[in-house]
Amino acid sequence: MTDAPRPDVLAAIGRTPLIRLARASQETGCTILGKAEFLNPGLSVKDRAALFIVRDAEARGLLRPGGTIVEGTAGNTGIGLALVASVLGYRTLIVIPETQSEEKKQTLRLAGAQLVEVPAVPFSNPNNYARVARRLAERLAETEPKGAFFADQFDNTANRRAHVEGTGPEIFEATDGAVDGFICAAGTGGTLAGIAEALRARKPEVKIALADPEGSALHAHYTTGTLKAEGSSITEGIGQGRVTGNLAGFTPDLSFRVPDTEALGHVFRLMREEGLSLGGSSGINVAGAVRLARELGPGHTIVTILCDGAARYASKLFNPSFLRERGLPVPEWIEAPPRPIP
Ligand code: PMP
Repeated sequence: MTDAPRPDVLAAIGRTPLIRLARASQETGCTILGKAEFLNPGLSVKDRAALFIVRDAEARGLLRPGGTIVEGTAGNTGIGLALVASVLGYRTLIVIPETQSEEKKQTLRLAGAQLVEVPAVPFSNPNNYARVARRLAERLAETEPKGAFFADQFDNTANRRAHVEGTGPEIFEATDGAVDGFICAAGTGGTLAGIAEALRARKPEVKIALADPEGSALHAHYTTGTLKAEGSSITEGIGQGRVTGNLAGFTPDLSFRVPDTEALGHVFRLMREEGLSLGGSSGINVAGAVRLARELGPGHTIVTILCDGAARYASKLFNPSFLRERGLPVPEWIEAPPRPIP
């Protein structure tokens, strides 16, 4: 049976396949499955949140035709919003920390978003990207003839609902309910808390775990009760210093802190051995899935998220000098001289 034609690209968001990760499954004796979110039209998991946030704003009368959607984003939500806005006739103004990859900034510009780059500072600083975005949206709401809407992905729970109604049920159905554990990292927390809600409602004994990068305060929060961040990570879009609106009321059953070296090992290996071209947050997630598999023991089915693709980070994750400067491993095939062609 083939899929029916989709009326527009928005109807191609979601319903992504689960892909068995061979080596991770083999090494743990579990079935480890990655949900291929890099296959969404905007090439990341955040298309789902973007669509739900915009549809919700329309339903609540917060967006008028031709209005401007304003958001603070590490990039992927902005890309999702820009594509949704193109189809539905809105403009996008995106505030992004300047440390995010050039590839994502370029994609945003090509998608027609107007970019405002700001220094990367924590949420406590008024110049934090999400806070600048909120202020800009408030100003534009008064000056723009067609109005402006602040998407507010961190605290707007339409984001989480995309995963309660979409991603979570898709995982349960695609595994015929066999899913024993789910793990992913949190940026806004919408993916983790939303999938947790959907799976727990269908299978109360399912184990939900957080994979937290260095530099995030969530692992400490869930294991000791104190929001405390240590270290740093080159991954983008994940890690959090506060309990966002999308994480409110959510608690994981387990939590793991995953260093970049471990995550990158998976990114490089999946690329070379399994043809999966992934970004850094997917590496954190797969490393977390392996740890959760070891915790639960052989025979279990573990699902995680493959959030976006490697092309978005070629200048960082696959750039030997960038990696070396940070004391990170450089895969030998990136620098290998080409073999002579006979
Ligand atoms: N991975 C990447 C690459 C992302 O851009 C994001 C979103 N910031 C996430 C993971 C985390 O998703 P969420 O915001 O739903 O926690």
